[in-house]
Amino acid sequence: MVHVDPYTPDRSYYECQECGYRETADSLGSCPTCQGTVRNIAVPRE
Ligand SMILES: [Zn+2]
Repeated sequence: MVHVDPYTPDRSYYECQECGYRETADSLGSCPTCQGTVRNIAVPRE
């Protein structure tokens, strides 16, 4: 039985340090809403 979780972090996750905006992108330099600094919060889980 295969269950696909749409929320499984399959790629890098970025979160804005300023407003908490989250985005899944490969190369995101700044927050699209407040231009704040985004950080990669991808957590490898087994
Ligand atoms: Zn932001």
